[in-house]
Amino acid sequence: MLRLCWLICLGLIALSAPARAQDRLNVVASFSILGDFVRNVGGDRVNVTTLVGPDSDAHVYVPAPADAKKVADAKLVFVNGLGFEGWLSRLLKSAGGKASVVTATSGIAPLKRGSDADPHAWQSVANARIYVVNIRDALVAAAPADADAFKSRASAYLADLDALEREVRAAIAAIPESRRKVISTHNAFGYFAAAYGVEFIAPLGVSTESEASARDIARIITQVRTARIPAVFLENITDPRLMGRIAAETGARVGGTLYSDSLTGEKGDSPTYIAMVRHNIKALTSALSP
Ligand SMILES: [Zn+2]
Repeated sequence: MLRLCWLICLGLIALSAPARAQDRLNVVASFSILGDFVRNVGGDRVNVTTLVGPDSDAHVYVPAPADAKKVADAKLVFVNGLGFEGWLSRLLKSAGGKASVVTATSGIAPLKRGSDADPHAWQSVANARIYVVNIRDALVAAAPADADAFKSRASAYLADLDALEREVRAAIAAIPESRRKVISTHNAFGYFAAAYGVEFIAPLGVSTESEASARDIARIITQVRTARIPAVFLENITDPRLMGRIAAETGARVGGTLYSDSLTGEKGDSPTYIAMVRHNIKALTSALSP
């Protein structure tokens, strides 16, 4: 009897012990938001390495030699696709091309931006669900022994995303319809706009690549007045005097930061996807409520 008990106990310990480091599946995620999704599904069964880390811009990323090694060591490489990682195919080639590439946006109907697809699909929480399902299926296929763990972690995270989606809808519903429009310099919220009915207006004729000029500011002021836009989010205007001028001359609120393409580090206010969406909702709500 005692011996049987021991066997059961040992069995339970073996079942509940976290996967040893060498048993974990090595995977790469191309940027921080995708890395967060993969960690949520993979848990301790997966080693996730993120190429474009927090607070960095995947659009203009230049892979380092160390990235080729990370890709070469990985069984799966998770990418956003939709033209987001223009630097990826060269990296895969220099890494030797053995890892399977998983496109996390598979099955998402892309929005068009001109003739190109808009890559920022994760800005709709409903799309984030599709990312998570694709990640789950790829992990299950790559490590079938851990299928149950991946499936149950994915279900728990999908339930969190459902709750998040309800939060977003409730927050937007509380903003009067006529006030649901902002000016934003980074054109990254097309999916958010389409899903939740907030209009994101790009400032006319203002370069989003460089610091705004005095002439840019004058244009923005005219546009905000004419279209009666209640709030502006201008990531690339770092001069507080210019921000102050826009606010003073238009009466619009100058919002804080909307995070679009990258998470913050652990100590920042958006270290996870869910924290990022909540942060953006709070920033929009406080800028747009009457
Ligand atoms: Zn972007």
